[in-house]
Formats: sequence, structure tokens, C-alpha cells
Amino acid sequence: SVILAIESSCDETSASVCVDGVILSNVIANQTIHEAYGGVVPELASRVHQQNIVPAVHQALSIAKVNKNDVDAVAFTRGPGLLGSLLVGVSFAKAFALAKNIPLIDINHMQAHVLAHFIGDHKPEFPFLCLTVSGGHTQIVLVKDYFDMEVIGQTLDDAAGEAMDKTSKILGLPYPGGPLIDKYARLGNPDKYQFPEPQIPGFDFSFSGIKTAILYFIRDNVAANPDFVQQNLNDICASVEKRIATILLNKLSKAAKEYGIKDIALAGGVSANTGLRESLRALCEKNNWRSFIPKLEYCTDNAAMIAIAGYHKYLKGEFVSQDVAPLARMPL
Ligand code: ATP
Ligand code: MG
Ligand code: FE
Repeated sequence: SVILAIESSCDETSASVCVDGVILSNVIANQTIHEAYGGVVPELASRVHQQNIVPAVHQALSIAKVNKNDVDAVAFTRGPGLLGSLLVGVSFAKAFALAKNIPLIDINHMQAHVLAHFIGDHKPEFPFLCLTVSGGHTQIVLVKDYFDMEVIGQTLDDAAGEAMDKTSKILGLPYPGGPLIDKYARLGNPDKYQFPEPQIPGFDFSFSGIKTAILYFIRDNVAANPDFVQQNLNDICASVEKRIATILLNKLSKAAKEYGIKDIALAGGVSANTGLRESLRALCEKNNWRSFIPKLEYCTDNAAMIAIAGYHKYLKGEFVSQDVAPLARMPL
């Protein structure tokens, strides 16, 4: 089977081709326009998707050496995400499927982040646990089958990626700040500053408290020394990163023990974080669990994860009709 996949839920326009379950291309067009605004501007994102989608698809087909007439089905992100952004991808997918008279496959973006683990040979076995940490979500997911997933814990307020991005904004860094915190953290001392660990019952998370703690910490220190952030940037980033990773992994570890699960996966944009990746590896080694950490290109938003999810739906023959509409909110 030849699957063409489209991802346009936020600010990445991406197209991928998957042949018999093997990803042959994964083209990602990043939008830089949002940097100046300190966050994604939905209206601008939709317009840039509109410009990027056709070139991205052409490039994905050409890298995969696949003719557009040989595509068997089109998979697309139906939600969750920004409605205007999703509409561009959904409309493109519908038009392509209509023109070629091939089936349409709708994909849940958060399921796709998890299913990125089925790209390549190192695959987890069901049931496994996946910590999905991204710009909009923080979830511990019990993955029972490809499309049978249960959220057993989630954030009550900010997502982990949001905490990274808001912290970086407080530090005066551009959007998105997660990758920059990662970069500076490598050069700093993670034990220099102590930020609070919220006490939330069960497997849920909260990141709004730590954000406020960082805000006051910076405000008070800058009042005493205007150069405090510049002088201690590496140590601040390392300490923030360590605290966020500890909060995430303490809950994940608790869930693994309670559910008796030994295959542990990481997914979503924040799973690109070096400190989190290293800490998960160490945690799994200590407990004799297997860790599954995606390649960097499959952590942040990409169409390859939509393609592999689409492939597994194609095998089941699960298609949608032309009247399908995107969903800004779409549960797992
Ligand atoms: P969602 O998947 O919840 O709809 P999204 O699609 O916007 O949200 P992703 O693209 O999956 O999110 O992830 C983006 C987030 O990942 C941003 O918050 C970004 O700062 C963060 N991020 C990316 N790379 C790193 C990194 N190396 N370290 C920390 N955070 C990172
Ligand atoms: Mg993004
Ligand atoms: Fe995402």
C-alpha cells in the first residue's frame, strides 16, 4: 500500500509517504513567522499552511519516488489542533482523494504521536505506557492497541511544553523556547536552583505553579542584580529542565509500577529534550524496563507519524467519507 499523509495541526506543514509500512519521506516546513510574536498566531499559521502544503506534498512524493497516481489512500490529521490550520490539511486531503478516487483516513494527532513508535524496528509491545509531552498536552497513556488508548493521567493546567516555552519567555528567549532551554541546560548545573514539585494526587500533573515560582524567582533576583539572568542562564535552564523532567518521570514511574508495565515510551515535542531522554533511559535501566524514545524528527510535529497511523487504519479498512470535518478538540 502507498499512503500519502498530511499534518497541519499547528505551525508545521508536513507531508509523508509510507509504502507497506515503511516511511520513505517526511517533509516538514517550519513556520518562522511566529517567532516575532512569542507564540503561534493562528490566522498566520493557516495562511502559511496554504502556501506550503502543495510544495511539501510534491517534495514528499519526489523523495519517495512515488507517482501521485500510485497513491492508495490519503491520511490526514483531523484534530486536535488549531481549526484554521487543520482545515487546510483536511481540505487538501479531501481534494486529493476526490481527484484520485481513493479512500480518506482520519487520524487523531495525539494517537499519532504515540504511534510514531511503530516507525522502524524497535517497537514496544502492547500494553505499554507512553508519556506524551508536547506543546498542548501532557498525558500518561495506557496503550492497549493501535487505536485503543486510555489517558490515565494528564495535566490539570499547563502542558510540559508550555511550561518550557513560558519559562523561556520569562528568560527573554524567543519562541519556541524548549529547544533553547535544552541547549543552555547542557552547559549548566541542574542542582544549582531548586524549584517546587507540585503535590498532585494520582497520575495527574500541574505546571502552572512552577511557572509562577520561576517568574517570582527571576523577578526577585533581577531586582537585586539586573544581570542575573545573563550571568546564570545555563544554570537556570539546567535546573528548570531537571525539575520538569523529575515531575514527569516520578509520575510515569509510579504508573509503571502500579500497572505492572515494563515497556515505557516517550512521545511529543518535549520528548526531544536531552535531559528528559537521558533520565528516562536511566530510570528504565534501573528498573529493568525497556525504554522507547523516538528519533528527533518524529518527536515534534511531523507527517510520518500520521502516515504510520494511517497505514494501520488502512490495514483495518477504516476510512471516512468526504463530509468529514476537522475537530479542534478530539479525545484520544
Ligand atoms: P500538541 O501535540 O499538544 O497538539 P504541538 O503539536 O504544538 O502540541 P509538538 O510540536 O508536539 O506540540 O511539541 C512542541 C513543543 O515541544 C514546544 O513546547 C517546544 O518548546 C517543545 N520542545 C521541542 N523541542 C524541545 C526540546 N529539545 N526540549 C524541550 N522542549 C522541546
Ligand atoms: Mg510546532
Ligand atoms: Fe504535536
